[in-house]
Amino acid sequence: MANTSNEHHDRPHRHHYDAEMLSVEEARERILSYFEVLPVEDADLVGSLGQVLAENLVASFDIPPLDNSAMDGYAVRFVDTRGASKDNPIELPVTGVIAAGQLPDSAMKAGTAIRIMTGAPIPEDADAVIPFEDTDELERRASGGSSAAIAIHLEAERHDNVRSAGEDIEAGQVVFKSGQILRAGEIGVIASLGHSSLKAIRRPIVAIVSTGDELLQPGQPYQLGKIYNSNAYSIAAMVTRYGGVPRIMGIAKDTIESLEAALEDALSADLVVTSAGVSKGDYDVVKDVLSSKGKIALWSVRMRPAKPLAFGVLDRKDGSSVPHLGLPGNPVSAMVAFEQFGRPAMRLMMGKPLVDKPTIEAIMDDPIRNHDGRRVYARVHVYMGESGVYRARSTGNQSSGVLSSMAQANGLAICPDDIGMINAGEITRVEMLDWPDDIF
Ligand code: AMP
Ligand code: MG
Repeated sequence: MANTSNEHHDRPHRHHYDAEMLSVEEARERILSYFEVLPVEDADLVGSLGQVLAENLVASFDIPPLDNSAMDGYAVRFVDTRGASKDNPIELPVTGVIAAGQLPDSAMKAGTAIRIMTGAPIPEDADAVIPFEDTDELERRASGGSSAAIAIHLEAERHDNVRSAGEDIEAGQVVFKSGQILRAGEIGVIASLGHSSLKAIRRPIVAIVSTGDELLQPGQPYQLGKIYNSNAYSIAAMVTRYGGVPRIMGIAKDTIESLEAALEDALSADLVVTSAGVSKGDYDVVKDVLSSKGKIALWSVRMRPAKPLAFGVLDRKDGSSVPHLGLPGNPVSAMVAFEQFGRPAMRLMMGKPLVDKPTIEAIMDDPIRNHDGRRVYARVHVYMGESGVYRARSTGNQSSGVLSSMAQANGLAICPDDIGMINAGEITRVEMLDWPDDIF
């Protein structure tokens, strides 16, 4: 790199990048001020999981639409079962059958019963359903008896096993308000209202540009001395997980032309994420190109890993601009920085409240050392200890290049910037990356 670096000194505009030292919160606040909620789209119901509803959904009919049976059994008038028991069965003539999806063709006459299936509408003038188990239907069938009558073994009360029209949702009701996050339950309810699409805030498109002459794309043959581009994939996975649409761009070499070309294609996104090339000691091509295409600020964030961070905007041809988050190149730094800065930016664009990852307190099995007054995010595996309290063990080598210790981690244990060390046995906060079932 030495000779290319010399070349660089002859380039006409040389920028001075004075890295500012910011807290995680200060950096996050500055970054978020560049984002706004994305426009509304017509979203497919199936694909809307995790999006934010952008309309008030009003029910145009009752759910359930009619009074209906909660059981397979016999629709009756409850007064006709008065005094019924196993020892004192009351026999009623059966005048018909109603299956789910059918409408009763007549009202029920006094002193009769109608065989009815779960979900089938209750005939007019019936007011209770006797489940099969509380009749003699089984014995009657077994002995070849007539199905024209049924013996009732239980006295019913009014509305026994009857689900009332509108008991779930009433016509005219606002079922979900704009701003509701769509989860499986909401999606089910919206389907039950008959909608196959809805208005939602669209998902952010996140372009991911990896920079570095040393990078190989996964799928290319192994070459000694090169490394596979893992950042694009870990970041893309996080983008997907947080509800966005990742767009992995080609690898940009450490040349102006290559980087310019990769950025060109990325500009239509809602967020451009670059990885590497922004730390102090780096060859300056990345910084120069980024600043010639918009604005860029280089920060030192008081955190470990992921101290170097770049943030700015890239200008589009039409005069608009797109926010740019420049992650450090080290694989763990890139992921931790995306958790802290990319995730909240995505939530903001998606119209979601800016809540942190679930945070718990855990007893450390291993110490966390803080060498230089930065907030340490230590990769840990949280598990439930014997006394019913969470414990966290280090997942090993905490170097920012050791991605396998990130893969083994389900949380990031925090040592505050002003504390030199958290000893084994002490309690600290852990931001959970995941909440796996095996934690319990
Ligand atoms: P840099 O920020 O360019 O100094 O990169 C810091 C470290 O991260 C170096 O060891 C790079 O090889 C590594 N690195 C940079 N980009 C990637 C990437 N896309 N995937 C995996 N490692 C990377
Ligand atoms: Mg590099």
